[in-house]
Amino acid sequence: MRTAAITLSAPVSPAWQPPWPAGVVLRFLTVGGATVDVTGDGDEQSENHRWTCSGCLDTGPYKGMDAYLCETRKGANQHATTCRALPRPAAPDQR
Ligand SMILES: [Zn+2]
Repeated sequence: MRTAAITLSAPVSPAWQPPWPAGVVLRFLTVGGATVDVTGDGDEQSENHRWTCSGCLDTGPYKGMDAYLCETRKGANQHATTCRALPRPAAPDQR
């Protein structure tokens, strides 16, 4: 059996996926179709990570505080599995 080698040195996005905002290291899709973005440096050893839901605007893992990536990832994923807030619509056309 032959297997393909995959190099993950650069982000891979399908053509239909818009680029992630600057500073986002992980992104989860919520039940309602919004996203939960994890920001920080992506280093497992640093405590500068936080998640923000684009649907309900909740943040974590603690209000106003940053945390390790492992607990931020877990909280973001848990929030994404329960949040039913819809994505915010694009700004109306001002023409
Ligand atoms: Zn939410």
